[in-house]
Amino acid sequence: MKLKKDHDRCIGAGQCVRTEPRIFDQDDEGLVSILVERPQGADEAAARKAVYICPAKALSLVDE
Ligand code: SF4
Repeated sequence: MKLKKDHDRCIGAGQCVRTEPRIFDQDDEGLVSILVERPQGADEAAARKAVYICPAKALSLVDE
């Protein structure tokens, strides 16, 4: 599974970073950066949670 971001949707709310700081960061503009592009195991579960809580629906986990 690959973790993807949509910068046009991200509003810099930071929930993903606060929830999973090992997987996400924020750039200088506050927009999401992905630190682990292909999360596995516990990281995949954590990434799935972040996808769910993002208020802007800017994150997705895709099968590729
Ligand atoms: S939770 Fe969503 S809107 Fe907020 S920084 Fe992360 S990706 Fe962007």
